[in-house]
Amino acid sequence: MTSLSPVLKQATPVVVDHAQGSWIHGTDGRSYLDFTTGIGVTSTGHCHPKVVAAAREQVGRIIHAQYTTVMHQPLLALTEKLGEVLPAGLDSVFYANSGSEAVEAAIRLARMATGRPNIVVFQGGFHGRTVAAASLTTAGTKFSAGFAPLMAGVHMSAFPYAYRYGWDETTAVDFALRELDYLLQTRTAPADTAAFLIEPALGDGGYLPTPGTFMDGLRERADRHGIQLIFDEVQAGVGRTGKFWGHQYSSVSPDILVTAKGIASGFPISAIAASTETMSKAWPGSQGGTYGGNAVSAAAGVATLEVVEEEGLVENSRVRGEQLKAGVEEIQERFPVIGDVRGRGLMLGIEFTAEDGSPDARTAAAVQQATTEQELLTLTCGPAGNVVRLIPPLVVTAEEIATGLERFEAAV
Ligand code: PLP
Repeated sequence: MTSLSPVLKQATPVVVDHAQGSWIHGTDGRSYLDFTTGIGVTSTGHCHPKVVAAAREQVGRIIHAQYTTVMHQPLLALTEKLGEVLPAGLDSVFYANSGSEAVEAAIRLARMATGRPNIVVFQGGFHGRTVAAASLTTAGTKFSAGFAPLMAGVHMSAFPYAYRYGWDETTAVDFALRELDYLLQTRTAPADTAAFLIEPALGDGGYLPTPGTFMDGLRERADRHGIQLIFDEVQAGVGRTGKFWGHQYSSVSPDILVTAKGIASGFPISAIAASTETMSKAWPGSQGGTYGGNAVSAAAGVATLEVVEEEGLVENSRVRGEQLKAGVEEIQERFPVIGDVRGRGLMLGIEFTAEDGSPDARTAAAVQQATTEQELLTLTCGPAGNVVRLIPPLVVTAEEIATGLERFEAAV
């Protein structure tokens, strides 16, 4: 008998029977409140009727027409919808299937646009598991150990992780920007640097919002040196942080934006956006793959963006996120093992810390397991694995947040 690979380390023992909205109904007969959303993907809730209808309808029209061969309507419609929400000036879009692929497309584009080889990434960043994306990932050695040689030309700079440094945010941002300047003087000259790549909130790296002032500092340096600024919005985008894009907590826009996960409610599709001028620096055939821009995924993407707009999900993310954060902060008062509670919108990180201030991964793992027993699904993250992350769907109600908080406290 064939079994699933043991490398698939499942965070919970749950086998799904069916799912709806914020709930997963298991084959064990139990109903779980899903604060994982397939790792930040099913933002409109499981099986949103409008998304299901759009996908069903599209399956009967055309499933796959490689869009470099034949264009299809859903992709044109998705491009138009994205145009309504993309930052001004990012008026050209390219599609792939996954976050990793889109990150790779962004890196290739930055290299082609600048003619420079090197990429600067920031400590704790997660950009995917394909070999190039893993080369850009510093959220934990498990993503890269044993795969050497990885892609050359990647340089890591500091991330303003104020809590871990024991500093206030301003000090942490000043430090990280000075480290970046030092890196540009010592390891990768601006003339060799194609891009800065950063998440507007670290995902797998520990659910850490990137301070807006840090993003501002990156923009200023990118402009000064002709470096492309890439924002990886794969996890933070499409309302997750309480604004449509995670970078909207800063005053700046990227040169290249990467999006995936929340744009199609679970159907695989990802995109990069840049100015037409930048995008035209990529030569035909240099980007893409067989399945990129799938028609059913694109139709689901259009429906998803309509739902986000019609149901006010960005605002719901902000309001329910505040409720969730305040509730966890209250729990923190009773449990000193919770060192830090942070996040924006419905992207909440809870860092577990031992008495001496060191990361406490054992407790985080135990709490994550215990939440499943309480019929609440959660995940851990962070380089040390000591952060429990809560990622409810953007359709979550006040009552569901209250239920989630009760179950979380019981687990702690
Ligand atoms: N970038 C970020 C910020 C992510 O969170 C992820 C996945 O979690 C990726 C890239 C990679 O996306 P995928 O797993 O779809 O390849």
